[in-house]
Amino acid sequence: MKRIALLTSGGDGPGLNPCIRAVTRQALKKNVEVFGVRWGYAGLLGNDMIPLLSRDVSGILGRGGTFLGTARCPEFIKIEVRRTAIRHLNQRGIEGLVVIGGNGSLAGALALHEMGFPTVGIPATIDNDIGGTEIAVGVDTALNTIVEAIDRIKDTASSHQRAFLIEVMGRDCGYLALQSGLAGGAELILVPERQDISLEHVAEVVVDAYTRGKSHCIIVIAEGWKPGTRALEDYLLSRKEDVGFDVRVTVLGHLQRGGRPLVFDRTLAIRMGAAAANALLAGESGKMVALHDGKLELFPLDEAVKALKPLDPLLLKLASVMD
Ligand code: ADP
Repeated sequence: MKRIALLTSGGDGPGLNPCIRAVTRQALKKNVEVFGVRWGYAGLLGNDMIPLLSRDVSGILGRGGTFLGTARCPEFIKIEVRRTAIRHLNQRGIEGLVVIGGNGSLAGALALHEMGFPTVGIPATIDNDIGGTEIAVGVDTALNTIVEAIDRIKDTASSHQRAFLIEVMGRDCGYLALQSGLAGGAELILVPERQDISLEHVAEVVVDAYTRGKSHCIIVIAEGWKPGTRALEDYLLSRKEDVGFDVRVTVLGHLQRGGRPLVFDRTLAIRMGAAAANALLAGESGKMVALHDGKLELFPLDEAVKALKPLDPLLLKLASVMD
């Protein structure tokens, strides 16, 4: 291969820029030209690509977001649309592609591979829901952001003797809620994987914290937990008299996606980026770089996008001991 391209796609998170830098510099070191596709798969369709030299990726290592931009491109699901994308790559003499993104983006990478275009993925999502890798780029920094927010909320909650419902990202996967709730000392963690927890039970936990003389009650909720944060707030407010604490809600939202990537994510991104470039140049395709027992390996994309990572039940149990 003499020329490759790379793109960032789907939900953004910290660590995408160090991935771009690593793929680019590793490929350039092997005398391979690199193109950066702007705005994810939409940029493949729009033929929006820029050549990347080593200096073009200077100064981005510590920056959040992605300097190439990312996007959602629903029409990429159609084969004729992907044919156009491959035509644009071929016209530029680009022989392989590195896709940096979450589950959906990696499904797109798999689809390109299945159409015969050499493609390697890098798992990058704050949700940590991608099968086959212990952790994805962006997860650790997002967790640190959330735990810092919980610590701050706890300060104000304790000052006023309040219960706080803190909603974090995670539509289908409670990883962020579980890990941040454990590290942030939450009294209760509510995740989509456990829909058997009733509003009555949550109220009991709040009452129990109050009667034990706690100065706060922190409940971390993944956005995918049903019946949802607002329904829980309404329920607790309807039982104002016996709940004890005043109740407040904080939805952390997009601040979880932004920010400078921390050391763990930078290192992971550099390792994964270089490994992905090397794999592609060595003729691999349809694979994703994955972390397993601290080492990088290649994992089949078709398995990665199918396997939703299960939560560690021992951690859930441990969190309930620490309330
Ligand atoms: P993430 O990569 O963060 O999970 P999305 O699920 O929104 O984000 O996926 C990002 C993009 O990947 C989509 O907008 C679409 O362009 C592409 N994509 C997702 N699923 C598929 C699929 N099954 N086939 C082809 N492309 C897909």
